[in-house]
Amino acid sequence: MFLTISTTGTAERPATDLGYLLHKHPDNAQTFSTSYGTAHVLYPEASAERCTAALLLEVDAVALVRRGKGKGRGGAPDAALAQYVNDRPYAASSLLAVALSAVFSTAMKGQCRAKPELPGETRPLRVEVPAVPARGGADLVRQLFAPLGWTVTAEPVVLDPEFPEWGDSRYVRLVLESESLTLAEALRHLYVLLPVLDDAKHYWVAPDEVDKLLRAGEGWLAEHPEQKLITSRYLSRRWSLTREAMERLELVRLAETDDSEVEEIDNAVEEETETEERPTPLAVQRRDAILAALRASGAARVLDLGCGQGQLVQALLKDPAFTEIVGVDVSMRALTIASRRLKLDRMGERQAARVQLLQGSLAYTDKRLKGYDAAVLCEVVEHLDLPRLPALEYAVFGAARPRTVLVTTPNVEYNVRWETLPAGHSRHSDHRFEWTREEFRAWATTVAERHGYEAEFVPVGPDDPEVGPPTQMAVFTLRTGSETVTGTTTEKKEAKAA
Ligand code: SAH
Repeated sequence: MFLTISTTGTAERPATDLGYLLHKHPDNAQTFSTSYGTAHVLYPEASAERCTAALLLEVDAVALVRRGKGKGRGGAPDAALAQYVNDRPYAASSLLAVALSAVFSTAMKGQCRAKPELPGETRPLRVEVPAVPARGGADLVRQLFAPLGWTVTAEPVVLDPEFPEWGDSRYVRLVLESESLTLAEALRHLYVLLPVLDDAKHYWVAPDEVDKLLRAGEGWLAEHPEQKLITSRYLSRRWSLTREAMERLELVRLAETDDSEVEEIDNAVEEETETEERPTPLAVQRRDAILAALRASGAARVLDLGCGQGQLVQALLKDPAFTEIVGVDVSMRALTIASRRLKLDRMGERQAARVQLLQGSLAYTDKRLKGYDAAVLCEVVEHLDLPRLPALEYAVFGAARPRTVLVTTPNVEYNVRWETLPAGHSRHSDHRFEWTREEFRAWATTVAERHGYEAEFVPVGPDDPEVGPPTQMAVFTLRTGSETVTGTTTEKKEAKAA
């Protein structure tokens, strides 16, 4: 198995920087042993103008067979195994992908201590793999790589040059070229897509494969038009894992496109500071109501769950009563913007010690969220599909279990009062549902009962006599004596499975 990565350069930006990026010096040939054989890294050419690194993997077929008997594909039958061992030594597959990640792990993470600016830079890249097993043929190869910014050459390899009438084999010679990608992105594309093309994993696909896929797919998989095929093949068509990955990707995608609401809020805040006479925007009223409820509860250590771009975190930081503030969101992009807004990198030590931003999904129990005084879910629940809501409920009220929980959500009845909102429309395209006052009360009361909380309801914004306020808020307070973890077994199972 063989793969080369080449780049070109100039005297100022020498191609030999590839050596720094890969953490492998161009002058040395290096050898690494992996569980399936030996990987070699060498540089056939290394000048300022052109530099090529080659990864050569010598597969130990015997080791493969031995391991295959033990646990390959859930106890693979012999026939599958035979097919398996055959082409493994030369076809680029999951074995090559694993070798890539083992040998170039730091490069894949985009780190370079010697020249920290290099990993973030795009540069001309050319990747060549002489034999990629491609289930789906050259067309699929193009569909997978082209949307990522690669110019793709995928030539079918004939089965046997002496007998052209036998037609093409399932292999293609693959050349990828791009000027717009970083090396880390390129490696992550290969790490995921080579096994996808091969459509056979040499190891049992365990649940942590979902994490590996999402990590390697960060920044590109959520938007990829073939996301479903990639996810399902990468996870060896294990539907439960594929579904989980798709759901998590969907969350990332939605979270990333979900900027309009936050932008509206931003504009609103700016307007507010400019003209004092105008009525206070709803977002600001919401934030004030939350701050008041938090102060009344006496909370010092506060979680902002689904913190988005960090406006509430910023407001909390201004009040020294809040000694520890943790923003959590599923969207890396939102968190990046939040950290810029808060100027986390320029903050003094004492301020910085008060605040943390964490990436995580609220549909999963998370140990990091235990032991806080209060949690806020400001305009978040309506972004989850209803069937996912019990998992969030358990994660927040059952497992994290702060003394106070504040939940705000739109009151759908009020929508008729919005002049710009067409009848029957929700306030934001990503809202999965909007509740009436009664629906919200019913939900909140059930959750409170189930987990040992009291629920109180607070209107936010003008409380219309007919349709109520635009925003509804529930204040949950843990009943004394209910401090231990609660929740029905079904809920716990759901949260675990989620
Ligand atoms: N609380 C903020 C943002 C509200 S928008 C504010 O009031 O301005 C909803 C936020 O919830 C988005 O930032 C979205 O990324 C986040 N979100 C949606 N589903 C989530 C989940 N399952 N886990 C964590 N965050 C989630």
